[in-house]
Amino acid sequence: MVTRREAIAGLGAGLGALGVGLILPGGGAAQEQQPYVLGDWTGDSFAPMHAIRDGLSRAPLPPPERRVDVAVIGGGLAGLAVASLLQDRDVIVLEREPEPGGVAKSKRWRDVDYALGSAYIVDLSEPFSRFYDTLGLAPRPVSAPVDRALTGVAGEGDPRDGKWRSAYDDLKALLRRLRESRDFPGMPISEASAPALALDRLSLFDFLRGEHIEAELFGLIDAYCLSALGAPADEISAYAGVNFLSEINAPIYAFPGGNAAIARAMAARISGAGEGRIVTGAAVYAIEPAEGGYARVGWFDALHPGEPRCLEARWAVVAAPYFFAGRILRGVDPAATAAMTSLRQGSYLVANCCFEGPPPELHYDSWALGAQSFSDAISATAVLPAAERPKDHSVLTVYAPFRDPRAGRARLLAGDRAALAAPIVEELRRFLPETFGAARLVEARLTRWGHHHTIAAPGIVATMRAVPKRFGNVLLAHSDGQGMPAVESAIVEALSAVEIIKRG
Ligand SMILES: Cc1cc2nc3c(=O)[nH]c(=O)nc-3n(C[C@H](O)[C@H](O)[C@H](O)COP(=O)(O)OP(=O)(O)OC[C@H]3O[C@@H](n4cnc5c(N)ncnc54)[C@H](O)[C@@H]3O)c2cc1C
Repeated sequence: MVTRREAIAGLGAGLGALGVGLILPGGGAAQEQQPYVLGDWTGDSFAPMHAIRDGLSRAPLPPPERRVDVAVIGGGLAGLAVASLLQDRDVIVLEREPEPGGVAKSKRWRDVDYALGSAYIVDLSEPFSRFYDTLGLAPRPVSAPVDRALTGVAGEGDPRDGKWRSAYDDLKALLRRLRESRDFPGMPISEASAPALALDRLSLFDFLRGEHIEAELFGLIDAYCLSALGAPADEISAYAGVNFLSEINAPIYAFPGGNAAIARAMAARISGAGEGRIVTGAAVYAIEPAEGGYARVGWFDALHPGEPRCLEARWAVVAAPYFFAGRILRGVDPAATAAMTSLRQGSYLVANCCFEGPPPELHYDSWALGAQSFSDAISATAVLPAAERPKDHSVLTVYAPFRDPRAGRARLLAGDRAALAAPIVEELRRFLPETFGAARLVEARLTRWGHHHTIAAPGIVATMRAVPKRFGNVLLAHSDGQGMPAVESAIVEALSAVEIIKRG
């Protein structure tokens, strides 16, 4: 990454080649005229998946080069969990991107670790707690107050402390009651009760309105649903919505840099058990299950799509999103692959905004009510004890899910970073004037997620319960399998695949 000074110096000399650009927000006070640097893209590489879509998915498999006990396709949290729990086996992880972690990755600006996607966890019950223990991780609650809702109107406080107080208390009480009931819509979804499954047939909006939750709260609930589940409350399953929203009654836990810490701990464990077990830049284009024998896995070096390679595995575990899994699985029931490929996927932009100057006291998560270009912003340093927070710089991780996923993907593919960053920065300035008042935005680093997860639409839980997760010796283990995009879903799916493999 070039420094801001270098970027400014290089302005007339082809910044595009350096992978950075400068943008000058139009209008505003003199202080707002400061340019900021645009960092390189991080996140999804689109080319390998497009190469698969555009023909490689039908390409023949070359002769296998090697045999392994377990091949894991995809090194996100689910795939890494499978490999780390099977570390005594001959296991290999094939990961398309240059780094494992999936949507749980982080980067660093100066000494601040910030998340590129997944940020916090909520459930420390079993089996999650034991799982974090095995990794030597001790999740720490984010110190209160954890979040606030911003109206964007100068001087106006969080409406949940004022005019929405009783409506918000009603919502919390409803969610508390549901949480304590035996019919809570929980994980694993295979154990859901009939009343919990009935929730899946409703939208979260219809369910909450039926429970007399005030309409005025839906600005906040919609922002939350879009950010966490892929669409506003009227397009989200009440099962998934209630499951996620119930976190408002509980502490949340976060590591510096977010859930990348979990990915790193698992990757270290896997690599510690044997060198070369995580192969990055390896895009899988085909998987052929075999009854009783070895499954064949066709892959290519993401930089050289024309040179396919192949390995054989006693077990193949597909830990890639179902949307992709359905495209690379061969020889299985077409109805199953059709169910996977027809799932609706969200698209997402995350902007990490790097500030120089005294950091204002920020809550962990700030929700922007009615904002058009982003839903919320997490303070990357709020997870640190106050004494360890930097005094003269800070990073805000701004979540900007696209309301129209297809249009969002088109914009991410076009890749115009300045056009994508500008509205977010301008709106952020309105919602967080104290942040911009105390410090200066020096860099915006954009991360793109083209198909970040399945949208948790009504019926998603029923769909996921119906999709088979085993095809001979090929297993599916991705968070999509729970119909709810969460770390806990990835762990549940990984544990289930590991159990099948251990049973033989
Ligand atoms: C912006 C964002 C914020 C989030 N925040 C939170 C949060 O705060 N808390 C929370 O609990 N959850 C959060 N989530 C959701 C949660 O983090 C994910 O559900 C979970 O991390 C997914 O893990 P996974 O392994 O199932 O999938 P992924 O992370 O999708 O990993 C799949 C992996 O497979 C690889 N892959 C795909 N296709 C191929 C192929 N053909 N060949 C080889 N490799 C392939 C991908 O590169 C990727 O690494 C967030 C998600 C996003 C997008």
